[in-house]
Amino acid sequence: MSDAGAALVPVGVFGGTFNPVHYGHLRSGLELVERLHLERLHLMPCAVPPHREAPSCSAEHRSAMVALAVAGEPHLVCDPRELRRNGHSYTYDSLVELRAELGEGHSLCLVMGYDAVLNLDTWYRWQELLLLAHIVVLARPGWRLPGEGVVATWLAAHRVRDRDILRQHPAGSVLVEELRPLAISSTEIRELLAAGRSARYLLPEPVLDYIESNRLYQP
Ligand code: ATP
Repeated sequence: MSDAGAALVPVGVFGGTFNPVHYGHLRSGLELVERLHLERLHLMPCAVPPHREAPSCSAEHRSAMVALAVAGEPHLVCDPRELRRNGHSYTYDSLVELRAELGEGHSLCLVMGYDAVLNLDTWYRWQELLLLAHIVVLARPGWRLPGEGVVATWLAAHRVRDRDILRQHPAGSVLVEELRPLAISSTEIRELLAAGRSARYLLPEPVLDYIESNRLYQP
């Protein structure tokens, strides 16, 4: 799969539990769209996470909150495809679907936090992900990629520093991007709400309204 020379416009896909989605996800997504000139970025809630316990909140609620959060921002879209599959939500399967929809020549970028890269070798068919997409790693303050082990060797073989590669090839490279750090996590939001405290200004108002009207994360 190679299309060197043509200017491709990459599509991005950013997976997560989004329990709930917050401004850390949204701002990073938008900065990435602008920096990498993405056609759009799919925020893809994970229905049944293979690597962590089932989220307290249903995939339908988490997906509805993502849809509310991105309403009005044409470059960010909610992609509920993992809710339509049974069993564990494997990113590999989602990339196969997206690749089939986009066609062989379209550039596709899987976005993941650097924390996810640390245990990438536990992911289903992890070494085949780059056959389907590029991987863009979001670095956070104090980040360090693995220095030894299979993931380190894999990184050394595939990491690029030139963003133009994403516009020249449909898949196959790993790019690391440092974005504006926003110290917000879904865990903290859930803890605030469970303690009866306000989570205002950490996530969009319509998402907070949804949380309140559906009595999610309540004390
Ligand atoms: P939790 O606290 O429940 O683990 P989270 O806030 O880390 O949730 P996830 O849905 O697990 O959110 O994250 C999805 C992706 O977003 C991950 O790749 C994660 O690294 C990234 N991410 C999470 N918070 C931020 C943030 N504040 N800024 C940038 N990226 C983030």
